[in-house]
Amino acid sequence: MFPTTDAEVWREELKDFVPERIFDAHVHLWRPEDVPDGMEIAPTDLGMRSFHGYTVEDFRASMDRLLPGRSVGALAFGAVHKDLPRERINRYAAAVQDAGPDICCLATVSPSDPMESVERWIEGYGLLGYKPYLNFVEHKQQDAVEIRDMLTPEQLDYANERELIVTLHIPRKYRLAEPLNKEQIREVATSFPRITWIIAHIGRAYFMAALEGHIEEVCDLENVYFDLAFVGSAPVIAHTIRTVGVQKVLFGTDLPVADIKGKNVDFNNQRLYVTEEPKPWSMSNPDLDLTFTRFYYEELRAIKGAARELRLTDSQIEDIFCRNAERLIPGRK
Ligand SMILES: [Zn+2]
Repeated sequence: MFPTTDAEVWREELKDFVPERIFDAHVHLWRPEDVPDGMEIAPTDLGMRSFHGYTVEDFRASMDRLLPGRSVGALAFGAVHKDLPRERINRYAAAVQDAGPDICCLATVSPSDPMESVERWIEGYGLLGYKPYLNFVEHKQQDAVEIRDMLTPEQLDYANERELIVTLHIPRKYRLAEPLNKEQIREVATSFPRITWIIAHIGRAYFMAALEGHIEEVCDLENVYFDLAFVGSAPVIAHTIRTVGVQKVLFGTDLPVADIKGKNVDFNNQRLYVTEEPKPWSMSNPDLDLTFTRFYYEELRAIKGAARELRLTDSQIEDIFCRNAERLIPGRK
C-alpha cells in the first residue's frame, strides 16, 4: 500500500526525481586496516561505531544498490577521529582520487599537523583541500572549541593562496545559532576569500528553530556553500534554498552512516536519530515492528519535498545534485 521497503521507496518515490548524474559532496572513505587496534571509539561516534571501514569499493556497492543506473561522483575524505593516523588516511584518499576522475578528496587536517605534512597532502598528493574536525582540537574541552581553533592561521593562509576547499563541521552546542559561529564563519570567509567554504550539514541546523533567523546572517558570503549531508527535514532544506539560493546548496549524504536504516528526526526543537536496530546514538524500539528505509533515502525524500515546495525546475534540481559542486572542483567546470 505505502512504499516502505528500500526497493519500493526507490521505485515509487525517488527514481523519477533523482537526476541521472549525482555528485555527493560529503562522503567518508577509509580502510579498516588504517584504524589502530584498540582505538577508543565513543558510543556517539556514528560512523566508526557502525563501520570498521568504508572503502571506495564499499561506496560503489552502496551506489549500485541505492542509486541503480545513476552516474555518481563524490567529494570524499577520511573518517574523522583524533587517533586515526592522518598520513595513512590521507594517502588512501589520494589513491582513491588518483584511481579515477569521479571521486575527488580532501585531507583530514588537525591544527596540530605541521605545514610540512599539510603541504605534502596538498601539493604532493594533490588533495583539494581540508576536512578539519572539532575533536582534532585537543587543547580545549570539546564544547568550547571555536571555528578559529580548527585550523591554524598558517594552514588557512596556505589554503587561501592555493584556493582550496574546506568542509567545515561547525562546533558548539547551538551550532549555526551560536553568535560566535556566525561571526567566525563571516570572519574566515572574508579574511580567506579564495577558500571555498562548505558548511557541512547546513551548519548542523537540523530543525527550523536552529536555522531560521541564523542562516540569514551568513547567506550573503560569496565563497560559502552548504551541504545537505544527513539533513532529514524538507522545511529545513526549503528554507535554506530560499535563503542562500539554489547555487549555494550541495547535495551530500554523510555515507557510510547514511546507509543505515533510520531517520534524522526532530521534535520540540531537538534532533534525534531513530533507527531500526538499537544503537547507542539512537532511539529504537524493535517491539513496534516498524519498517525503516535508509537515512540516504530519507535525505532524498526531504530534498524532494523541498523541491516540490519551491517548485524547482529540473535544471535547478540538477544544480543541487551535481553542477554546483562540480563548478567548485578544479578541472570540472
Ligand atoms: Zn561527515
